[in-house]
Order: sequence, then structure tokens, then C-alpha cells
Amino acid sequence: MTGKLIAGNWKMNGSVSFATELVEGLLERLNQDAVSADFVVCPPAALLGTVLSLAKDTDLAVGGQDCHANVSGAHTGDTSAELLKDIGCGYVITGHSERRTDHGETNADVNAKSAAALTAGLTPIICIGETEAERVTGDTLNVIKTQVTESLPDDCDPDNIVLAYEPVWAIGTGKTATPADVADVHNFIRGLLNDRFGEDAAKKIRILYGGSVKPENAAELLAVSNVDGALVGGASLKVEDFWAIGVR
Ligand code: PGA
Repeated sequence: MTGKLIAGNWKMNGSVSFATELVEGLLERLNQDAVSADFVVCPPAALLGTVLSLAKDTDLAVGGQDCHANVSGAHTGDTSAELLKDIGCGYVITGHSERRTDHGETNADVNAKSAAALTAGLTPIICIGETEAERVTGDTLNVIKTQVTESLPDDCDPDNIVLAYEPVWAIGTGKTATPADVADVHNFIRGLLNDRFGEDAAKKIRILYGGSVKPENAAELLAVSNVDGALVGGASLKVEDFWAIGVR
């Protein structure tokens, strides 16, 4: 782990002209400023080619938003981790709560997709997070423990995985967890990783926070212990905002 990792999840947004403008804006800033954070953008699959051709041989990394667990086959509409790697991606988001909700993805699915990503040579950004109902009933840490235990592949290399804690109730709602809540969960996750991998290996794993991160709250959230970056949805669609989250 070096600096913070700032990952932009564009979700199902954008167009060729939008992607071109946004990536050109990011590259301009990456060229001008001395930057300690690492930036990655995860556009919709249909825009990966556009983004990758602009980001080639630059410091801007590119990732997919999902991958299939299999290498190839009769899976209409899906994209394999191998193909993402082949076209030039470095990352892939796995287990985003919108995939878990919209597509019924389970921890076992997320585990298999993350394993496929690692086999292909991609770094999976493995998403976990409790729903509002789970938080209200005091189940947050139990849910997180189960998700971490079951979503991380058995023999995964701690050098090549990223976790993203995204409370479901904070995604796209404008509600953000308080720094104290974020600290509790991130410290808990680090403890789980310490138990599983040993402290030396576990400290290499970046744990991102996600859920309504924006320039106004980024400094406070990124200063929380064990917050190693941010997974940003809405605010990653504006170059000034995305940049301001990582560079202050
Ligand atoms: P948001 O989305 O920043 O719009 O809340 C975050 C995410 O879903 O990754």
C-alpha cells in the first residue's frame, strides 16, 4: 500500500463524449499536480475501450464494474475477468451492493468472481456493507464479519485485494456514516484481516470507504484510522469533485 486509493464507480452513466471529457480532465490534472493518491475509474463496460485508449501509459488506472466467475462460455451479456485484463484493466469491482440487490449476488458469487479476478491478474475491489435495517437492529458487525469471511477467496493474496466498506444506506442517499461509525467498522475489518492473514500481510490491504463521499466530507473520512481511500459514485462523475476528493 502506498497512498490512498480513490476509485470512481460511474455505474450506468456516461457516453463517449462524457468519458472523453472526464478522463482528459483527470489526465491533465495528473500531469500538473504532484499527487500522492492513486486514481482508478470504473466506467460501464461499453465505455472501457474509450477510457482505456485515453488512459494507456498514464497513471490513471481503469477497472470494470463486475466480472463473471468463469473464463469464457455461454453467458450472454457478461464479461470475464480475463477479458478485462486483456483489454488493459487493472481492477474490477466485485459484490457492489447494487449487484447484490439487482442481480441477487451472494457472498459465494462475490467470492467466485473475486477469485476469477485474481486468477486473471486483476485486483478485485470487494464491496461489503450493511443495510439500514441491519444497522438499526445492531447487526452491522455480524453482517460485516460474514461478508468478509465468505466474500474473500480462500487463498487470496493480500497484496492484490482491496476491500470497500459501503453502508448500503449511505450509497447515493447523501447520508454519510459518521467518522466514529466508519472508524468502528474499518478497525473491525482490519482486525478480521489481521486474524486471517497476520498483521504484516493484512496492513497491505487497502480498505476504502464508500457512500456519498464528496469533496466536503472527504478530508474528514479519509483521515479516519484504517480508511485507505474512497469508492466514489455520484461525485466521480464530475472531474473537479473527483479530483478534489483525492487531492487536497
Ligand atoms: P455514491 O456511490 O458515492 O453515489 O454514494 C458509492 C458507490 O456506490 O460506490
